[in-house]
Formats: sequence, C-alpha cells, structure tokens
Amino acid sequence: MDKVVVVTGASAGIGAERARQLAAGGGAKVVLAARRQAELAAVAEGLGDRAFAVVTDVTKRGDVERLARKAIERFGRVDVWVNNAGRGISRSVAELTDEDLDAMWTVNMKSVVYGIQAVLPHFKAKNAGQIINISSGLSRAPLAPVRAAYGAVKGAVNLLTASLRVELKVTHPGIQVTLVLPGVVATEFGLNSLGVGIVDNRKLPGAQSVEDACKAIVDVIESPKPEAYTSGFIADVVARYLREPEVVEGEIASRLR
Ligand code: NDP
Repeated sequence: MDKVVVVTGASAGIGAERARQLAAGGGAKVVLAARRQAELAAVAEGLGDRAFAVVTDVTKRGDVERLARKAIERFGRVDVWVNNAGRGISRSVAELTDEDLDAMWTVNMKSVVYGIQAVLPHFKAKNAGQIINISSGLSRAPLAPVRAAYGAVKGAVNLLTASLRVELKVTHPGIQVTLVLPGVVATEFGLNSLGVGIVDNRKLPGAQSVEDACKAIVDVIESPKPEAYTSGFIADVVARYLREPEVVEGEIASRLR
C-alpha cells in the first residue's frame, strides 16, 4: 500500500496498532499524532523511517493544522487522514455536567472537524484522498447507557461524516469519506475515560482484539466504502436494535437491573 496515512490518537490503542499494520512489510508511510511525546516516539521508532511523529492535541485547531502541514512537508502529500483520537465518559444522563458535555464535544467532535478542515484543501486540490472518522457502535444503540454522552457525540460524528460524503459527491467525487464503527475493543480506552465506575475494556467479556479491529480499518483503506463495523458481532447487534428497539432496550435494562 503506497499511501501516506495520518493517524490521530496513534500513541496507543487502535491508532498505534493501525499504524503498525499499515507500515508493516514496507507498506504505507504513516504520520502519527497524539499528545504524549514519549509514547508516540516509541510507536514511531518501531516503524523506522516510514513513520513520522508529530505531537498534537486534537482539541486545538492550530495543532491539527500544523499536523497537516508537517505531514505534507515530510512526505510530499497525504492520501488518507484518520480521525481516530477520542475519549469516553461514564456518567448517567441525570448527572452529566457542563464540563462533561464540553469535554465530549471537544475531543470527539470538534477534533474531527479540525481534522477534516485541515486536510480538505489538499484533497480538493487533487480531487483525491480519503477521510476516515472513527465512531462507535454506541452511536447507534444504547448498549451502555452510562456512555450516553459519548455515544451521542459519536452519533453527531456519524451525521457529520455522511453529510460531508454527500457534499463531496457533488463537488469532489474523487474524495472518499468513511465511517468506522468499532464495538468493544481491548484497549486502555475504558481506563482513559472520564466519569465514574471506570472499567478496563481489556477485561470485558467478548472484547475484540485490537489487532482484529484494526484489520477492518486497514480494509477500508484498501477498498474504500462509506462505512464499516469492525466486527460482525457489533454490526448484528446494531441491526437488531434498529429492527426491534423496544425488545433490545428491554434486554439491556434487564441485564443492568
Ligand atoms: P485509547 O484510550 O487506547 O487511545 C486513545 C488515543 O487517543 C491515544 O493515543 C491518546 O493519546 C489519543 N488522544 C486522546 N486525547 C487526545 C487529544 N486531545 N489529542 C491527541 N490525541 C489524543 O482508545 P482507543 O484506541 O480504544 O480508541 C480509539 C478510537 O476508537 C476512539 O475514537 C474511540 O472513541 C474509538 N472506539 C474505541 C472503542 C473501544 O472499545 N476501545 C469502541 C468504539 C470506539 P495521548 O493520550 O498520547 O494524547
């Protein structure tokens, strides 16, 4: 895969593993972005000169614009931009604070808009490129009500992604826009979440391995499509919820009782 791929949230978890899979065997060139310099450098060092790390806080528009500039300076172009950085929260709807809502919106939604706007002029100039936004199965079904604010913001990302796709179909049909929806993936995501009753995703029954989840993301780069779930399991759960919401909500509630 001779592509230049920018991945945000690449110091750990899904982003780091995706970068490893993309660069494996002399494949893609990857530009890695996250806040923690040491962790980011460790991932980049393992990938040799095909990787380039740029310390970036995706909640800052200026940082994300700098990331796009640095990526183009280093490799001459960007082919794929993955808005992957994100953070969860565990807090019941009744107890959400203004700070919680602002944090979710900033890290999960504004960051995606910053990424899109930073790379879009470059993609438009060549009428080519791919934007991949990482959402969540929780954006489509209340499987974990305590993650309501997170799922709601990821739902906003879904509509933003679809709207951008339609917009570009009209003006720049060479640009692909893809939404990826993971289910539970065994990363430190749960530990990094805000809120109460933090769980370690890696210990949740049925958690998908990070390697497996990333294969689905690498696949959508090789064969672009509008959207993809990382596992058949989460795709089936969401499809069933959309078919029979009351039944599934009843099942979720009885598990939580
Ligand atoms: P992790 O918590 O393991 O990793 C999160 C990554 O995002 C880290 O590299 C972190 O790096 C980075 N990050 C967090 N905040 C910022 C910031 N402000 N600026 C730049 N980078 C940031 O999570 P996952 O790898 O599991 O999650 C990746 C994506 O997948 C997220 O969008 C998440 O919502 C989504 N997802 C995950 C699921 C799961 O079960 N794991 C399920 C569904 C969706 P650093 O701290 O160095 O900045």
